[in-house]
Amino acid sequence: ITEALLDVVARLESSIEFVEDDLPAVESDKMVETLRSIRTQLSQLSATFAPGRLLNDGLKVALVGRPNVGKSSLFNALLGRGRAIVTDIPGTTRDVLTEAVGFKGVPVLLIDTAGIRNSNDPIESIGVERTRREAADADLLIVVVDGAQRLNYKDRLVLAEVGNQPYLVALNKCDLESFSETLSERDGQTNGTCIGRFSVSAKTGEGLEKLQTAILQPFVNGKSPTENLLITNARHHDLLLRANMAIADSETEMNKQSSEELILVGLHNALGFLGEITGETTSNEILGRIFSTFCIGK
Ligand code: GDP
Repeated sequence: ITEALLDVVARLESSIEFVEDDLPAVESDKMVETLRSIRTQLSQLSATFAPGRLLNDGLKVALVGRPNVGKSSLFNALLGRGRAIVTDIPGTTRDVLTEAVGFKGVPVLLIDTAGIRNSNDPIESIGVERTRREAADADLLIVVVDGAQRLNYKDRLVLAEVGNQPYLVALNKCDLESFSETLSERDGQTNGTCIGRFSVSAKTGEGLEKLQTAILQPFVNGKSPTENLLITNARHHDLLLRANMAIADSETEMNKQSSEELILVGLHNALGFLGEITGETTSNEILGRIFSTFCIGK
C-alpha cells in the first residue's frame, strides 16, 4: 500500500519540481484510480479489526436456556472438543461458569449460565441478574433448546431476553427418539440476529463440529488484502481510517483539478499516518523514488 502511495506522491512531486524538464504529464485519471484502489485495500485492512480484536481478546460465547435443556452438558461437550487453555478463571461462581478453550486456534471464552428465569427467590435472583449481564456482554449467544420437547413458555422467556446480539439456536438431544427439528418454530421473536440452527447431541457429540464452526464463522470472515494480516491494535485501526480519509481528500482535490501542491497535502498526511504504523516513509525515500523513477540528474 505504502509503495503504491509513494509512487503517486513521487510523480506529483516530480511534476512540481521538474516542470521544465518535460516529464511525463500527470495522468490524473490513472492516479485517481490508483488512490481508489489504495483506499479499498486500507478499508479491507481496517475491516479486519473486529476479528483481529477477537483473536486477541477471545470470543465470548454464552450458553443460555431454561433449566434441563442440556446447557451444562453442552458446555462440557464443547470444552472437551476444544483445547483447554485456562481452567481457573477468577470470578467463576456457582451460577456462571467460564472456561477458555481454543477452537481452531481462536480463543473462546465459553460461559455456562444458570439460565434466565424469573424468580422470587432473592438468592436465585442474584444469579439471574448475573446471567443477564453475562449474556448481554457476550459476542455470541447459544440458545439451547430441548429438541425432544415442545418449545414451552420458559424457552420463549429465554428467547425474549436475547438482546440485539447475534445468536444461534442449538436443538439439543438429537439422539433421542422424540427429537424433532420441526416441533415448533423455536427461534420465536427476538431482537437479535439468528445466524443458524443446529441439531446437536451433548451426549453423543453429534453436530458439535458444525456448531463449533458456526460459532467461529462470523468472526473469522474479515477479508484482508494480505493473507492472514489482521489489525489487532486500536491505534493502528485509527491510523488506517485517518490515512483513508486523507487520501479521499486528495482524490477530491484531484477531481477538482487543483494544483499538485494541494493534492499532495492529503497524500503526505496519509503517508504520515501509515508511517506511524510501519515506522517508515521519510521525505528522503520519496526523493529517492523520484530520482529512480524518472532518472533525473546527471
Ligand atoms: P442444564 O440444566 O440446561 O444445564 O441441563 P443439563 O446439562 O444439566 O442436562 C439436563 C439433563 O438432560 C441431564 O439429565 C442430561 O444428562 C440430559 N441431557 C443433556 N444433553 C443431552 C443429550 O444430548 N441427549 C440426551 N439424551 N440427554 C441429554
